[in-house]
Amino acid sequence: MTVAPVNPPARLLMGPGPVNADPRVLRAMSAPLVGQFDPVMTGYMSETQELYRQVFATRNDATLLVDGTSRAGIEAAVVSLVRPGQRVLVPVFGRFGHLLAEIALRAQAEVHTIATEWGQVFTPSAVEEAVARVRPHLVAVVQGDTSTTMNQPLDELGAICARHGALLYTDATASLGGNPFEMDAWGLDAATAGLQKCLSGPSGSAPLSLSEQAVAVVRSRHRVEAGLREEGDDDAPDPVLSNYFDLGQVLDYWGPRRLNHHTEATSMLYAARECARVLLDEGRDQVVARHARAGAAMLAGVRGLGLGVFGDVAHKMHNIVAVEIPAGVDGDGVRAALLHDYGIEIGTSFGPLHGRVWRIGTMGVNARRDAVLTTLAALEQVLRRAGARVPHGGGVDAAAEVYGDAA
Ligand SMILES: *Cc1c(COP(=O)(O)O)cnc(C)c1O
Repeated sequence: MTVAPVNPPARLLMGPGPVNADPRVLRAMSAPLVGQFDPVMTGYMSETQELYRQVFATRNDATLLVDGTSRAGIEAAVVSLVRPGQRVLVPVFGRFGHLLAEIALRAQAEVHTIATEWGQVFTPSAVEEAVARVRPHLVAVVQGDTSTTMNQPLDELGAICARHGALLYTDATASLGGNPFEMDAWGLDAATAGLQKCLSGPSGSAPLSLSEQAVAVVRSRHRVEAGLREEGDDDAPDPVLSNYFDLGQVLDYWGPRRLNHHTEATSMLYAARECARVLLDEGRDQVVARHARAGAAMLAGVRGLGLGVFGDVAHKMHNIVAVEIPAGVDGDGVRAALLHDYGIEIGTSFGPLHGRVWRIGTMGVNARRDAVLTTLAALEQVLRRAGARVPHGGGVDAAAEVYGDAA
């Protein structure tokens, strides 16, 4: 059997993620490997920490990468911050809220959830009422949930949690980079992300940051591995249930002691470092503004094609829109035709939205005028062939107007 080299077709990835990687990131990933404790490597690690402090807008010393996809970061945060039996409150407004609740359950927490209708977010008072009632150790909430496209405002939640003695953790995988995010100003104790959405990288590395208070919780559980156990540690009350995701050990590996834990995923570290450099070179605010503009143009464009949009658009993430599939149109057929005829990928949807909406992303390097216009032009043509009545040029015209193009 002969197997050809990897040679994938050109694709424009306009779904909910992963999206195309910035070419700079792909180039960084092909750089030669160095040893795990080579001073060059540990230097890159320290630089990566400093870059992600800027990306998260934090002064947290404990800012690092967890090796694995975004949910590796989620599991590390939850399993390290929560002792079995402790209460965790999860405000669920989409599929990834259910994931947080599931991971907290697996960490043997006593999990409480509050729910809102899909397509809505929580008011601060709804969260505060639940925090006061449940008295959780940790509130775990998604910032941007790609399943519904909603962006949960977090700016008031840190103060609420602090008033009630709870830690606040957020999964910012889908939103970070494309929407405002202020770790310290919003009083977050833990945040995790991934590269494959607005950070223009491949999946496989999870940036994570912990406040001093969160580090203290992790440290109160942490006992070093058996061989390095100190006298008196034998009665360690509750070691973290995972070795790989024990943030105490991961912190010791990234910290000045550089205690061996896992072997850092060198090529993914190169990728994560370059993702942050790409973002910070352009500027945090500029990148958010570029996503806001691309998102507004895509929203105007799909409306210009006469399509409906799901959810409370005022609370939509900049980088994704859920577009209602017109009656009589085969949603999967349209996606397949976009991919086959135009090399453009858009997303399907889950749960209550399955079969009702497509999800179209404008993320990372694809939050760009030409990517938006190309997608809308192709969508118009594919929709017409699928039997939908769509205004000629209605999508491209409306989007171009957002970009300030003369008609
Ligand atoms: C896309 C997404 C993830 C992805 O998790 P992976 O483990 O990288 O697949 C996690 N959380 C949210 C909110 C997301 O939108």
